[in-house]
Amino acid sequence: MTKYDYDLFVIGAGSGGVRASRIAAGHGARVGICEESRVGGTCVIRGCVPKKLLVYASQFAEGFNDASGYGWEVPPAQFSWPELIETKDREIDRLNQVYLGLLEAAGVTLHMGRGRLIDEHTVEVSEQRFTAEKILIAVGGRPWVPEIPGASLGFTSDEAFHLEQLPKRILVAGAGYIAAEFAGIFNGLGADVTLAYRRERILRGFDEDVREAVEAGMAGRGIEFMYHAAPARLEQQGDGIHVTFSDDQTQVFDGVMFATGRAPYTWDLGLEAVGVHTGPGNRIEVDSYSRTSVDNIFAVGDVTDRLNLTPIALMEGHAFADTQFGGMDRPIEHDDTPAAVFSQPPVGTVGLSEAEARADGLAVKVYRSRFTPMKYTLAGRQEKGLMKLVVDADSDRVLGCHVVGPDAPEMLQGFAVAVRAGLTKADFDRTVGIHPTAAEELVTLRQPV
Ligand code: NDP
Repeated sequence: MTKYDYDLFVIGAGSGGVRASRIAAGHGARVGICEESRVGGTCVIRGCVPKKLLVYASQFAEGFNDASGYGWEVPPAQFSWPELIETKDREIDRLNQVYLGLLEAAGVTLHMGRGRLIDEHTVEVSEQRFTAEKILIAVGGRPWVPEIPGASLGFTSDEAFHLEQLPKRILVAGAGYIAAEFAGIFNGLGADVTLAYRRERILRGFDEDVREAVEAGMAGRGIEFMYHAAPARLEQQGDGIHVTFSDDQTQVFDGVMFATGRAPYTWDLGLEAVGVHTGPGNRIEVDSYSRTSVDNIFAVGDVTDRLNLTPIALMEGHAFADTQFGGMDRPIEHDDTPAAVFSQPPVGTVGLSEAEARADGLAVKVYRSRFTPMKYTLAGRQEKGLMKLVVDADSDRVLGCHVVGPDAPEMLQGFAVAVRAGLTKADFDRTVGIHPTAAEELVTLRQPV
């Protein structure tokens, strides 16, 4: 009989924490988990899932517009933001119940409340203390907002899902994943959207051709871009929120969304007291087995800030549980992680960008196609999609695959397998295309640019 209440105690019931606790319980561990908000975490409650539902909602406007090119006469459509939020909330409630059911079915004991480390084997939750042989920190991250005067007049992605009304004129500050996705959502639902970025061109870190194609597509849909502009001050006045930018110009909006990044949620967790080291940006430092500087304490997901992606948290949580409780050896590596941005147009990407491959000193061949998706032809839309392969000229290996256009995220999952498997351009060429699709472009790119 062990001297602890649990074999594993997990702080945070989001994607990483729930997966780790279920798998550990499946391996026979006695597992407790705590959650201060709602089981399901960022992805299910206030991230990927509700975001995707809002993206779907916003795409109808485009469909109604395009329909006339296909012979439809569509009466003026009416949209109700409160109705959308209500139906979205019902779906999130349902998923929250599914997650609660998963924990129960796995035999994991849930304690509601914020968890705090007391010592290396003790966690306090709502004034109750639990001991465990191993502890997993999976508390995720929180939106980060710059400290500028009037910042509290703005909102973040957390609140965006619960706005009472859709503001008419919206400023989105930032140009990362969340900014690109929400700018598209608000725009599709009928708001006038301006995206302000302190540098030039959205989605820093993505392939340059991707950035250009997404920006062109967003601008074509009516989103305004302000570059070298970051909000410096917000003031509520009678006609709206007056935003003064870093270059001193002022504009008026009805809503200001900060999509200026996320930070690990390490506040008041008791990390210092037990000696869990944090690095730059307060992220918990871990090794490839997700072990922190304290031997029996582990961390997975956004709190470690390795890659803020749900499937990464799931993989890290699963591998941790298999290694610690299932007798397996599963270190984590993050190479060739595919990703999608559900902007409009959307992005799917895996592997190296052209610039990254060149920076690695590789001889690079680039294959690229820009074309108008077939669906847009009768609709009379001029927008061009992008297909791009970055290939190592010496080995012929496909190092990166980047797509912008309808269904890009769906398309990339399969191509990610090919890139991860180390397949060559010749392997791509040998594969018969599926006709007529956009994806077939990726196996018919003949001439390097
Ligand atoms: P990102 O780090 O992607 O983007 C933050 C943006 O805010 C950047 O454009 C950044 O500019 C800008 N910024 C930062 N500080 C300031 C400031 N003080 N003033 C003005 N602008 C500023 O963060 P997100 O919040 O968009 O997303 C967080 C993470 O969540 C992502 O990295 C991603 O991993 C994950 N995510 C994934 C999604 C998906 O898989 N589809 C969807 C949503 C989120 P600069 O470029 O100059 O640093």
